[in-house]
Amino acid sequence: MSKIAIMGAMPEEVAPILEKLGQYKTTEYAGNKYYEATYNGVELVIAYSKIGKVFSTLTATTMIEHFGAKKLLFSGVAGAISSSLKVGDLIVATKLSQHDLDITAFGHPYGFVPEGAVYVEADKGMIKLSKEVASDMGKSVVEGIIATGDQFVANEDRKNWIGKEFSADALEMEGASVAVVCDALSVPFFILRAISDAADMDASFSFDEFLETSAVESAEFVMKMVDKVIAD
Ligand code: SAH
Repeated sequence: MSKIAIMGAMPEEVAPILEKLGQYKTTEYAGNKYYEATYNGVELVIAYSKIGKVFSTLTATTMIEHFGAKKLLFSGVAGAISSSLKVGDLIVATKLSQHDLDITAFGHPYGFVPEGAVYVEADKGMIKLSKEVASDMGKSVVEGIIATGDQFVANEDRKNWIGKEFSADALEMEGASVAVVCDALSVPFFILRAISDAADMDASFSFDEFLETSAVESAEFVMKMVDKVIAD
């Protein structure tokens, strides 16, 4: 089994993973810390990128090109768009889009640039495994579209626009950029988010209150995913 990358955006998102591993080697590279460990006989590389599309692009690329990861799993928190998603609920991305990518002045759709695509699809095999993990854990996990942009959305109008334009169920700030990197480098990827807020006017308060517990929810699920991926 080849090396697996597990990434988050913020320290809180990878802390529960590092805690579970206990022992790891830390390497500083390009302004981030990368943690390497052997888990059930498989090499892992773990890192948080810092927030946003640019930092997450750098980290995903580094994990693949520098550390040699052949699969990537992302664990983190997100704002809900779908009203059926509540704080702590888990969403697996089927496909992802950049909601703030806009050259519509040239007649292109939102989220599109020439030679790119509005959506990047996540690995179907890992999505299938996530259903088994959910049933093993007795948890419900929804599949949905995730929209990504360099904005903390705390505004009902913006949230609703993103929901409508991209048919998105949740939004965050790193998923689509990681997806673009993995797709370009032919690395299967899986993006999981636990809801921390509803991307509305209370979003920052909700985020601060639930970041840690939601990050743990997501990390626990992702580690069970890693077990499945290794066993698969
Ligand atoms: N409180 C942090 C900033 C968090 S930014 C600080 O001050 O340092 C929000 C992070 O959580 C991003 O990594 C993003 O991916 C995710 N996220 C959760 N809710 C979000 C929302 N409503 N809008 C955008 N990103 C959200």
